[in-house]
Amino acid sequence: MITEYTYRFRLYPNKEQEHFLSIQFGHCRFVYNYFLSLSKKEYEEKGVKWKYSRYQSMLPELKKEYPFLKQANSQSLQVSLQNLDTAYKNFFKGEAGFPKFKKKKSKQTVHIPQHFAIEKVSKKRGQLKIPKLKTPISIKRHRDIDKSLIWATEREQGQIRSISITKTPDGRYYLNVLTKREIQPLKPTNKTAGIDVGIKEFAIIYDGENTHHIENPKYLQKSERRLIKLQRQLSRKQKGSKNWEKARQKVAKQHQKIVNQRKDFLHKVSTAITKQYDAIVVESLNIKGMIQNQRLSKQIADVSWYEFMRMLEYKSKWYGGQIIKADRFYASSKTCNVCGYKNNQLTLSVRKWQCPVCGTQHDRDENASKNLYQIGLTHLTGGRVGTTLGYPKGIQRPTGAA
Ligand SMILES: [Zn+2]
Repeated sequence: MITEYTYRFRLYPNKEQEHFLSIQFGHCRFVYNYFLSLSKKEYEEKGVKWKYSRYQSMLPELKKEYPFLKQANSQSLQVSLQNLDTAYKNFFKGEAGFPKFKKKKSKQTVHIPQHFAIEKVSKKRGQLKIPKLKTPISIKRHRDIDKSLIWATEREQGQIRSISITKTPDGRYYLNVLTKREIQPLKPTNKTAGIDVGIKEFAIIYDGENTHHIENPKYLQKSERRLIKLQRQLSRKQKGSKNWEKARQKVAKQHQKIVNQRKDFLHKVSTAITKQYDAIVVESLNIKGMIQNQRLSKQIADVSWYEFMRMLEYKSKWYGGQIIKADRFYASSKTCNVCGYKNNQLTLSVRKWQCPVCGTQHDRDENASKNLYQIGLTHLTGGRVGTTLGYPKGIQRPTGAA
């Protein structure tokens, strides 16, 4: 299976390079907005839909009119226009809103389709050479990136399609390397896993023999505590003041750090699981209804579960496995995995309970993962498991099967 994959590295341009990049961002934005305003006018007044070829044929004229555009990498300007064309196409298909003007304060991007080089300098450092810039920009890998991904770009030089450079609103620069890679499905392991995501622990996996507990990483909890502290400090500053702006930047940076750390963690866990199990049973998440709690740490947990499910889905596809989603009204925590008794009194705060019918002692999340595991078996064999009722009804069609 051929799949597209984007590797992201942190870039560290010096002052001069930052200046160069800001010119590139600015010119791409200028060209995009210039043609958007022309085409928008014609579309609104006469209903004319512009084609990419029209932008392309007008670009040389525009460069004559605005000589400063010569500072830009011309291929980057062309990609900006392709992006505008795509934005229009999505709008005409009804899949997106009308194209928007690009703002200087939002994330900035410049695409570089050709004539770039990514070179390794040492284990953790590299450099990027791009057209029109005489000096290479330094690349550093993120501390938490999975080891297997380090310099994967180097191994896959042949498959690199294009790169882009972005600057996030918190002032960081990133190199995005779009690659095409072929993923071989793995040999079947004949193993099924039921996975229950939790609050106290990140997830519990039951595979028919063992229960595996996946803890929330300590470094993440630490980062989250720091974010809460920084937000508190921000709220005490006078809005718009210099100190407020400083505190706001600290919050933005810390937030980005958590996003990165989370993502790395989720990648590691989802890769390990999808490689190990042919069938993975999860609950359909009802993010909105699941947790009423508006606390920040809970919001982060919700987002990462959603992201985790997404990763499990596409990685299962890569490796030839499948994801089975249990109905979201199926009570995996409340149903005794031994006799099928449904404990309707069980509230979220109760972590351990004893089944009044068969007497089994339950850990809430372990019990849930065992129930999900059984759903998987039921689904795979097409029959019913145990004495529990109503499983097959709640099962959705697998979305992960190729
Ligand atoms: Zn029971």
